[in-house]
Amino acid sequence: MRTFEYVRATDTQEVVRLLAEDPSASCLAGGTTQLDLMKDGVLEPPTLIDITRLPLHGIERRGESLHVGALATMEELAADATVAERLPVVREALLMGASVQLRNMATIGGNLLQRTRCRYFRDPMVLECNKRAPGTGCAAVQGAARMHAVLGVNENCIALHASDLAVALVALDAVVHVQGLSGRRSVPLTEFYVTADESPERENVLEHAELITEVEIPLPPPSARSGYLKVRDRMSYEFALTSAAVVLVVEDGTIRQARVGLGGVGSKPWRAYEAEHVLTGAPATSATFLDASEATMRDAWTVPGTAFKVPLARRTLVRELQTVSGVTA
Ligand SMILES: Cc1cc2nc3c(=O)[nH]c(=O)nc-3n(C[C@H](O)[C@H](O)[C@H](O)COP(=O)(O)OP(=O)(O)OC[C@H]3O[C@@H](n4cnc5c(N)ncnc54)[C@H](O)[C@@H]3O)c2cc1C
Ligand code: SF4
Repeated sequence: MRTFEYVRATDTQEVVRLLAEDPSASCLAGGTTQLDLMKDGVLEPPTLIDITRLPLHGIERRGESLHVGALATMEELAADATVAERLPVVREALLMGASVQLRNMATIGGNLLQRTRCRYFRDPMVLECNKRAPGTGCAAVQGAARMHAVLGVNENCIALHASDLAVALVALDAVVHVQGLSGRRSVPLTEFYVTADESPERENVLEHAELITEVEIPLPPPSARSGYLKVRDRMSYEFALTSAAVVLVVEDGTIRQARVGLGGVGSKPWRAYEAEHVLTGAPATSATFLDASEATMRDAWTVPGTAFKVPLARRTLVRELQTVSGVTA
């Protein structure tokens, strides 16, 4: 057991200042990832700053955007009326994640910042992990890689980004609002994450002394339909093997707008621009959906343990495009 200092903060700027003063301090929101990693000895922050009392809890609709405080819980967001009405893809992604007990603790900011579930990263007894100990190698490439990524990876790290919500949010063009020492900034979620092949030890562009304060979700047009399909080893309490978030506007049999996110395959929540390119302006048919799914996996980099994900991800996307569009032929 390691001792650490616990600080309960009530002011956002105070947290930023505390983080800036101490490069090894860490934040505690719901604690469902942070405390696991501390118990496992992967993270050993000498100071833990409890941010749960910061005024970052609300969920508010302003015009055609939903503003979600970083400390809103997964259950609160899933139960929100605007989410139920206009963002089924978000509701489904949330409710297919974790368990109801976890979702009542886990926050939206923490969900977006959860670390990879790579078992080698989470076991300090394994010495080879470029993410935990840069330059040591990657145990997963030759090891058990069923829960690893095939896009945005190379032999240095094949870690998967595990958040379901983030997959839905990249498809929706959500924006993350951040507060740091020098003020606030906004980052589109599609630019928030970095891939493991760029830098295994870094997962996003958040600086140490920056807090996520809010996530802004633009609402898709009222005529849009959306949904999330998650393929997993069991029906609850399990991370995705593959998943697809789909937002479509179809008029007279033609796809006018398409936005697609893929989960279970990327070192970051994967925006499938190639699929969107195939879908937009094309007839809403299963042949189009198949073409779109084939476009998504062309750059996959697999090891024997992850090769099954390429056809599975294609089929996952085709199935969800059929479900959301209502077109199966
Ligand atoms: C058994 C289990 C199953 C799970 N299954 C799923 C699943 O199927 N799908 C899924 O998506 N997730 C799943 N999760 C992950 C879960 O959703 C996350 O652990 C949770 O959302 C993290 O939120 P938190 O508030 O507990 O974050 P914490 O654990 O408190 O924090 C996580 C990280 O984010 C940082 N942080 C938190 N909030 C902020 C902020 N506002 N600004 C800056 N930094 C911040 C913390 O410092 C820490 O580094 C599962 C977790 C467990 C334990
Ligand atoms: S996949 Fe990434 S996180 Fe996992 S062992 Fe390899 S370097 Fe570490």
